[in-house]
Amino acid sequence: MTKGILTPVIIVLLLSSCGELESQQPNSSSLQSKEEQLSDCEQHYQNWEDNLLKSIVSGSVSDGSLTNGKMMPYSGSNFTYFDDDSYLANRAFTSQEVKLSILDTYKKMEALAPHRQFYLMELSNEKGGKIYPHRTHQNGLSVDFMMPMLKNNQPYYGLDTLGKNHYLLSFNEKGEYSEDKEVKVDFDLIALHILELNKSAKEQDLRISKVIIKIEYKDYLFKTPNGKKLKASGIYIVKGLTPLINHLHDDHYHIDFEEI
Ligand SMILES: [Zn+2]
Repeated sequence: MTKGILTPVIIVLLLSSCGELESQQPNSSSLQSKEEQLSDCEQHYQNWEDNLLKSIVSGSVSDGSLTNGKMMPYSGSNFTYFDDDSYLANRAFTSQEVKLSILDTYKKMEALAPHRQFYLMELSNEKGGKIYPHRTHQNGLSVDFMMPMLKNNQPYYGLDTLGKNHYLLSFNEKGEYSEDKEVKVDFDLIALHILELNKSAKEQDLRISKVIIKIEYKDYLFKTPNGKKLKASGIYIVKGLTPLINHLHDDHYHIDFEEI
């Protein structure tokens, strides 16, 4: 990074990210050394100590708890957790098996969807239990995944770094963004991700028990090449939702796993 581009605006933007830079004098040598350090979220993951004990999932997704929960890494080569505050508040915990399933799937997506970046949304608290405002996510088997987007049929990431406000975005029944119809949900990529996730889950003696996605999206999802495979797979995708829950699942899809 050169000194020339370090305008105050850029510094403010950087400071508002996950602690990438702290209040340092903006000279190139100090910035260089700070950049080599981990962000607050990456440091949070490094500081977390895995007790190496097997995760125990108790109760149901809507009334349950998690013992020996495992923290998802903040980021990897092709994925990032969507909200720093949520991450630092320990809302990215899950069971060991779900964690391995998610990570294995992202690894496969490096080859299946090269150059695509994915965003992981909320999971569970370290010990499970209620996690406002979710009704489920209580026993480490529920995960929210951000919808990948396209703009003019090219990958689009302009809405992906809004943090928790991403949950508040609105899309129409075709998956087009309310503020810009050129920005659309990438249904084929979602279908591919779900199919691969179920394969990875099976290696961990899990399977997807339910996918929650805006009901009107299902027709568009099943029309895509991977969507046809998804439909044939028998993975359960909800058939009906209350208007509120339906509306909430236009920007992300929710997946519940179950042990097999
Ligand atoms: Zn959810």
